[in-house]
Amino acid sequence: MKAMVLTGPNRPFELTDVPDPVAGPGEAVARVITCGSGLTIQHIKAGRRAARFPRIIGHEITAEIVALGAGVGSLKVGDPVTSYFYLSCGHCRWCLSGFEPLCPNCTGNVGIECDGGYAEYIKLPAHLFIGLPEGLDYKKHPAEIGVITDALATPYKVLRRARVKAGETVAVFGAGGGLGIHQLMMAKWARARVIAVDVAKNKFDACRKAGADEVVDASAGDVAQALLDLTHGEGIDVAIDYVSSTATLEAGAKALGRRGRLVTLGGASQPFTASARDMLMKELELLGSRYVTRAEVIETLDLVARGEVWPLVTEIRPLAEAEAVHARVERGEVTGRAALVVA
Ligand SMILES: [Zn+2]
Repeated sequence: MKAMVLTGPNRPFELTDVPDPVAGPGEAVARVITCGSGLTIQHIKAGRRAARFPRIIGHEITAEIVALGAGVGSLKVGDPVTSYFYLSCGHCRWCLSGFEPLCPNCTGNVGIECDGGYAEYIKLPAHLFIGLPEGLDYKKHPAEIGVITDALATPYKVLRRARVKAGETVAVFGAGGGLGIHQLMMAKWARARVIAVDVAKNKFDACRKAGADEVVDASAGDVAQALLDLTHGEGIDVAIDYVSSTATLEAGAKALGRRGRLVTLGGASQPFTASARDMLMKELELLGSRYVTRAEVIETLDLVARGEVWPLVTEIRPLAEAEAVHARVERGEVTGRAALVVA
């Protein structure tokens, strides 16, 4: 099959013929139609995240099952599917109780520790393929439907993690990024008052279109003070931080009002200082949110199938143009998500 292969960090993609994957026991193979191109996978190409090479990256797929290994009863040939991102076991206490991203047997991520979607075919343990619901026209919109599994499901899960309620004020740090812009969309869907925080002025219009009621230019000064000003000194209810630098985490924590929640999604994952006195006096919660469960992928797919939200994919290019697309992802030039057409 044709595959876009990375041979090492900071190396260009190589369009290569590699052997077709063969489904072993408990595995399935799917024919890839499209695959999303986000910053998470660009981190591997740029060498900021360790991986074993050669590697075929990509996990935000729309695909069709073409072969089943022995013992697979949950799928059939022809089923339209997307992929779960974590190589979680599916059998342990954490997987079974709805905390699959915390699986202690997890062996990594699709497209990082095993080959992913930048190829004609992808092979995975069968339980990591998630069927697409009827009502999603995956043949007409494969690029949009493929990115739901991460770009839209991750923000959906954050709403749960932070217990966002209608009428609350939610600030999204890194709102112009691929996940951030979908977080604005999901927070608006949850009927929150939505504030976008970013430094990229060229993304502010897209932030407003995605659902931001207000935009705070983080390059213009004290973000915490700007958020307090926007809430008449009360503070925001929820800060969702996709940047997670020391500065953004401290600004988010400082801007929280009574019963406020700060959620970090990793990002730069820098250490930060928060006031224990503020945590006590205002009963603050500082939270981490790690990807989603398979059930949350299904729920997010259903949400799109019902027409409540729609992923923002602004660039759809052939697989052969992966290098150019990733250069744009690296420079922060893509609004929402880019995706590659494989077949
Ligand atoms: Zn597990």
